[in-house]
Amino acid sequence: MKYPDRSNDSSRPAVHEYPFWRERSPLRSVVDGEVLPAQADTVIVGAGYSGLSVALHLARAGRDVVVLEKDRPGEHASTLNFGACGRTIRHKFTKVASDHGLETAIRIFSEAKAWLDYTVDFIDREQIDCGFTRAGRVYGAHTPEAFTAMAEDLAYQQRHMPVDSVMIPRHEQQNEVSSDDFFGVQLLNDVGHLDPGRYHAGLLRCALDSGVRVYSGCRAEAFACNRGGYDARTTRGSIHSKELILCTNAQTLGADPVLKKFRRRLIPVHCWSVVTEPLDDQSIRQALPSERMQLETVLFYTAVRVVDPDRRILVCAQHLYDHEDAQTAAVAVLDQAAERMPVLKGIRADYCWYGQFAMTFDWLPHLGTDPATGIHYLIGLVGTGVPASGYLGWKLANRILGNSEAETVFADRPFPTRPFYNGNPAWVLPAVREFYRFRDQRAWRRALVKDPRPR
Ligand SMILES: Cc1cc2nc3c(=O)[nH]c(=O)nc-3n(C[C@H](O)[C@H](O)[C@H](O)COP(=O)(O)OP(=O)(O)OC[C@H]3O[C@@H](n4cnc5c(N)ncnc54)[C@H](O)[C@@H]3O)c2cc1C
Repeated sequence: MKYPDRSNDSSRPAVHEYPFWRERSPLRSVVDGEVLPAQADTVIVGAGYSGLSVALHLARAGRDVVVLEKDRPGEHASTLNFGACGRTIRHKFTKVASDHGLETAIRIFSEAKAWLDYTVDFIDREQIDCGFTRAGRVYGAHTPEAFTAMAEDLAYQQRHMPVDSVMIPRHEQQNEVSSDDFFGVQLLNDVGHLDPGRYHAGLLRCALDSGVRVYSGCRAEAFACNRGGYDARTTRGSIHSKELILCTNAQTLGADPVLKKFRRRLIPVHCWSVVTEPLDDQSIRQALPSERMQLETVLFYTAVRVVDPDRRILVCAQHLYDHEDAQTAAVAVLDQAAERMPVLKGIRADYCWYGQFAMTFDWLPHLGTDPATGIHYLIGLVGTGVPASGYLGWKLANRILGNSEAETVFADRPFPTRPFYNGNPAWVLPAVREFYRFRDQRAWRRALVKDPRPR
């Protein structure tokens, strides 16, 4: 099929350089008085999903909770993300079983399923209108070996726990992916997606309604143990609390030793996201035949999904972050996606924005209590924070409250860093990215030469 190339149309409007989600749920500053109160039971740093989730549960249990937010609530990953609501972590089940033992692998993947169920139930219970849909997801294999590895991993996992996924071989994949470049796909039936901005806005509303006091434009700069609790010095005064909780994720920056300690355990991963102009049903189906979210088995992948209400396509690329402005990034991201979805060639980008999420060295999210200071943390959501942060925030609140439902396999695990790593991967991340990109793209090209497109 021939697709019209509209890439040289100079009459196109410029791309909006902010997330598409903000059209329907603009960020709001929450200013609860100019000066911070002198004290609170609990101070939480960060008003993304994680901080608000912990705050909500503590406030509903009767605690006096203050959340400090250096920008506007949700300004970072929580409203910049792709909106996938899944039940996986970055590692394969087999890898986790070999690194941590089979029992731990079962616990980790069972909890990943629990965070999806928790989030679906939470959205329903709190009546958050965020367009959650269990649309499913497909992972396209970039080589026959990648397909076999996915199939073996799934079979191994299904021997030990129920998993709602199936493998679809290359000759049967047409209903799921538009590109013959894939060597089969894995279909995850039970996962979904949502509008991240509306989800965050709903969570913020729940927290405020529960009595949480959120201070935006309030950067926490230094922390000290004092009077059996903590003093947090901020740009809007100091506050004393019995408990201090860090939920700062990829935005963990600053000179305080505690912030530096956590920063050394995080790897910021950069992404550009693009939302296209509205498309007709035929174009959508030519890109995503089943309208399920699509990802690839390469390490630095491109993710694609449909966004409502006016039927656009969202593309998120983890590997094209060298671009300095949204205009050129938008062209690069769509060109990249068009390699597998030719219908996207020349389609107009209406929105393009940049964001960072936080990987950890063991690719697991972490929560716990810093043994040196007693400061609690929920940090390093490894790109799973849409469903994981609500669930893990609830777990952390339960720990602090001494409730029975506090246990989680993600708590108090060793939180690794690397010698000489200061939290800024500088040239190392681009070098790593280039290495894996070259490796994966070469393998993909070679596989296609050996076993060309069947259609
Ligand atoms: C492009 C992109 C795509 C993604 N796609 C997905 C996806 O599809 N599915 C998924 O599950 N996850 C995805 N993620 C990850 C997900 O968005 C995050 O895991 C999640 O938002 C983390 O929430 P958080 O509250 O922990 O962090 P954040 O939302 O980053 O919130 C941390 C907050 O702390 C504040 N802060 C930091 N330091 C201070 C300080 N000193 N004082 C005061 N405030 C401070 C920051 O300003 C920020 O608002 C994606 C992320 C990005 C960037």
